[in-house]
Amino acid sequence: MSEQRVENVIIVGSGPAGYTAALYTARANLEPLVIEGFAWGGLLQQTTDVENYPGFPEAIMGPELMQHFRDQAERFGARLETDDATKIELSRDGGLHKVWLGDDLRLARTVILAMGAQHRKLGVPGELELAGRGVSYCATCDAAFFRDAPTIIVGGGDSAMEEAMFLSKFASKVAIVHRRDEFRASKIMLERARAIPNIEWLTPYVVDEFLPAAEGSLGLARLRNTVDGSTREIPITGAFIAIGHDPQSQLVQGQVETDAGGYVVTRGTSTLTNVPGVFAAGDLVDHTYRQAVTAAGTGCQAALDAEWYLRDTPFPLEAAAGAEGVAA
Ligand code: NAP
Repeated sequence: MSEQRVENVIIVGSGPAGYTAALYTARANLEPLVIEGFAWGGLLQQTTDVENYPGFPEAIMGPELMQHFRDQAERFGARLETDDATKIELSRDGGLHKVWLGDDLRLARTVILAMGAQHRKLGVPGELELAGRGVSYCATCDAAFFRDAPTIIVGGGDSAMEEAMFLSKFASKVAIVHRRDEFRASKIMLERARAIPNIEWLTPYVVDEFLPAAEGSLGLARLRNTVDGSTREIPITGAFIAIGHDPQSQLVQGQVETDAGGYVVTRGTSTLTNVPGVFAAGDLVDHTYRQAVTAAGTGCQAALDAEWYLRDTPFPLEAAAGAEGVAA
C-alpha cells in the first residue's frame, strides 16, 4: 500500500472551460490535474473556422484553438491525463473527492466539473442503427463523405445553418428540416444560408424514421408535417442532426444539484455547486450562451473560486488520513 497523493484540484473536462481553469490554477501554483479524456478539446474539435473568439481577427480553426488552450495550460504546469473519468464520488462534508479512471483512483480537495455537452439525439427509429452509415452529428467532420449526395440537416438554430452551409460545399443538395416555420437561428446566419442555391427548406417537418437502402446505409427519411400530420419520404444518403446539446452530467447526477435539463446548478454568478469544494463551468452549466468565450470565462471563475476555497478551508486532515493506504 502506498500513500495516495491528494490533489489540490482535479479538473474533469477539456473544452475552453476546463483548459482555462487549468491555466489559472496552474498559474496559482496549485498543480492542477486535468482529466482531459481521450477525445480532448471538446466540441470545438469538431468545428472549422471559429470567427467569434476574440483575439483572432482572421478566424482560427477549432482544433488549432484547442491546441493553443492545451499548450498554454501545460506551459504553466497543468498535468494532463488523456483518459476518461469513469466514476466520480463527491464528498458532501468537505472531505476528499474521488475521481476514477477505470481502476485508478485520484483524490482531490476540490473538483472543477467542466465536462461540457454532447450532441442531442432525435430518438427516432433508425437513428442509432444508421449512425456512422449516413446519420451524423457533425457535418464539419463528415461532409466530405457526402460529395454530390442528397442530404438533410435537422434543426433550426445557428448550428443547423452553420452545418448546412458547410455541407452545401460538398453535397448535391442540403434540405434543412425544421419542426416550425420560424427559425431560432440568428438573422445573419439565416440570410447566409438562404443565399446558397443548393440549400432547400422543409418546414414544418420532423423526422419520424430513418430507413436503410438495400446495401445497409441510409437511404430514406420519413418526414411528418407537424401541422397537418401528412407524411412524405425523401431519398437521402446523409442526415446531419443539429438540434442542440445535452450536458454531460451523468457522472455527477444525484450528487450535485442539476436542473430539469441535466445542467449543473451553480450559485448566483459564481461557479459554486451545492457541494463544498466542487465547482462547475462551461456548457455543463450554461443552457443560454454556450460560447467558447463564455465557457473560458466561467473556467477562469471556477479556478478562482477553487483557489479561494483552498485558501479559506482547512485541509481535511481526517479525510487525508483516510486516504493513506488507498491503493495507488
Ligand atoms: P439551439 O439554438 O438550441 O437550436 C436547436 C434547434 O433544434 C432549434 O431550432 C430546435 O427547434 C431544434 N430542436 C431541438 N430539439 C429538437 C427535436 N427533438 N426535434 C426537432 N428539432 C429539435 O442549438 P444550436 O443551434 O446548437 O445553438 C446553440 C448555441 O450556439 C446558440 O446560442 C447559437 O447561437 C450558438 N451558435 C452560434 C454559431 C455562430 O454564430 N457561428 C454557430 C453555432 C451555434 P425549436 O426552435 O422549435 O425549439
